[in-house]
Amino acid sequence: IEDALRQAQKMEAVGQLTGGIAHDFNNMLAVVNSALELLGRRFAAGDDKALHYIGMAKGGVKRAAQLTQRLLAFSRQQALKPGALSVNRLVGSMTDLLAHALGGNVRYEARLSEDLWLTWADANQLENAILNLAVNARDAMPDGGHLRIETANVQVDAAKAAANPGLAAGDYVTVAVIDDGAGMPPEVAAKAFEPFFTTKEVGRGTGLGLSQVYGFARQSGGLVRIDSAPGAGTAVRIYLPRHAAQAELPAPSPAGPAPRRA
Ligand code: ADP
Repeated sequence: IEDALRQAQKMEAVGQLTGGIAHDFNNMLAVVNSALELLGRRFAAGDDKALHYIGMAKGGVKRAAQLTQRLLAFSRQQALKPGALSVNRLVGSMTDLLAHALGGNVRYEARLSEDLWLTWADANQLENAILNLAVNARDAMPDGGHLRIETANVQVDAAKAAANPGLAAGDYVTVAVIDDGAGMPPEVAAKAFEPFFTTKEVGRGTGLGLSQVYGFARQSGGLVRIDSAPGAGTAVRIYLPRHAAQAELPAPSPAGPAPRRA
């Protein structure tokens, strides 16, 4: 599980990196290509040597563009495939996986809220996120401890939204992974979401776990919060937007904006 997890994290990071680079690179290639096009027209009058060099450059640009297309195709494999999702059912299905990941000396308990709303998210990515959080929790409890996963329906009103930058008012399903381990000092908590930030020794930590969780939550229209203090344990809570099932959607009002999909 350790290795599979590390591999998944690396693949995700590589996918994000190549996707980002390939996209920007493609834009720059387009600039080079159109400049070559213009140069070619200027020399159309008959400078054969110049036209030959321009042709070579265009050939290179074309091959580079084909390469970036392949890189983009690779990185798109990691795209989110969201759907209506029961977080309780997902957490319930992870019991064996979590027991494995946590090892013998961590007690695991799930506190799943009754009548939990559906959310709209990619089930595989959420499973990955919860597993990342559980492994972090285990690492913070080297001498054993207690891990709890809690789900809840949360309504964020305007006042709460104003007090929580990045959290829009609305209905959310939350899933929290809570440990009673070492906790984080403020300077670690402040950097914890940064890709490649880790306090673990080389080979143990990639620094990608929490950045995956963060990226997933943001892309799903949600948010992640860390509550942690040295010696007081850590709670990492993912907020995912409620998915309003078709039957529950309010009647469309002629004046207002269309209801949000999720
Ligand atoms: P990694 O686990 O590979 O170090 P993460 O991005 O998942 O990468 O975590 C970054 C850092 O945040 C960790 O190295 C650790 O210092 C801190 N951290 C994350 N989760 C916890 C936790 N549950 N308890 C204490 N510290 C944590």
